[in-house]
Amino acid sequence: MNKNKKKYKIAILPGDGIGPEVMKEACKILKVLKKKFNLKIKTKKYDIGGIAIDKYGCALPKKTLKGCKKSDAILLGSIGGPKWDYLPSKNRPEISSLLPLRKYFNFFINLRPSILIPELNNLSPLKKKIVKNGFNILCIRELIGGIYFGKPSKEIKKNNKHYAIDTTIYNTYEIKRIAKIAFEEAKNRNYKVTSIDKSNVLKTSKLWRKTVIKVSKKYPKIKLSHIYFDNAVMQIIKNPKKFDVILCPNLIGDVISDECGILTGSIGMLPSASFNENGFGLYEPAGGSAPDIQGKNLANPIAQILSLSMLLKYSLKMNKVSNLINSAIKKTLIKGFRTYDISYGKKFITTKQMGNEIIKSIIQD
Ligand code: NAD
Repeated sequence: MNKNKKKYKIAILPGDGIGPEVMKEACKILKVLKKKFNLKIKTKKYDIGGIAIDKYGCALPKKTLKGCKKSDAILLGSIGGPKWDYLPSKNRPEISSLLPLRKYFNFFINLRPSILIPELNNLSPLKKKIVKNGFNILCIRELIGGIYFGKPSKEIKKNNKHYAIDTTIYNTYEIKRIAKIAFEEAKNRNYKVTSIDKSNVLKTSKLWRKTVIKVSKKYPKIKLSHIYFDNAVMQIIKNPKKFDVILCPNLIGDVISDECGILTGSIGMLPSASFNENGFGLYEPAGGSAPDIQGKNLANPIAQILSLSMLLKYSLKMNKVSNLINSAIKKTLIKGFRTYDISYGKKFITTKQMGNEIIKSIIQD
């Protein structure tokens, strides 16, 4: 029984492409969990992305933003697709809804777990001898600073030459607050933080490293190491198992989180969480709207369901419920159930069937 009697609201934003299909499975699972644990969680759906452009002429309608503000967390499907590719880049559904949402709520923390269980090591593109025991990496990326947001960022024409400029900028406050998250997460894992930078070249990276070292003094039990970005890309491929928590500035984290993700074998099983210091967050699959498989009942719903699990853990502090989802997914995969993306020419089940099998594993627990 749930002792936590607090009432919660989740804003559900299915979005475009496979978003609504995989979201349906996550909502089915939430319904089962609400009953099992007597959870007081209300959900309400809102439009975002391409579908919102079609209905309201803008990718992040006021009604959606208002609904998110009134909620305790946001569960998002995916955004975008070829239908809206004709729009200028600043009006594209992903750019004009996700980025403002991140900025508006100050989601500076981005967590991307990449977990390969030994039973699924054949899914990894790496050699079996490297991944035979699986791996479990948590990539922590600073999400609203660095080169993606630094000013100036513009094109300049001067002396018959055409230039473009982007600015990498970080201050110690921004670095400290994300570093603290990494050390706190490491306390619940294997007590290791690897900070990635390019401090042999970049001033911002020098400040990054110095500040991370300062923060680490408060966490004497945690082993901190530093690695240059170029070397990190190689070392992760060579031996992912030696990494635990990885801490990165925005651009570096963009690359490293995708690299760690693909080493697990499928984008359809990768969740992500973006949240702020109050624990208010947005949870979504790491992949996109997969227009190539939209409407075919082929999408893997696991990334969406794991995103729900992260939401329950980080925003609603329901660790037990979150752990149950994770173990039910693991059991379902160990039983041999596979969606198309992870079937490698063998027998596969549909999006809906995968949702149902996970529910069976939850009920059996
Ligand atoms: P994508 O992630 O949508 O697809 C890449 C490949 O992975 C495709 O073959 C797809 O079928 C597969 N895939 C993705 N998720 C899957 C799942 N759950 N199950 C099984 N297979 C899955 O990337 P893309 O094709 O480059 O982009 C498609 C659209 O999504 C674009 O409009 C892009 O801008 C948008 N996009 C949105 C987000 C987001 O919503 N956060 C992120 C990335 C891309």
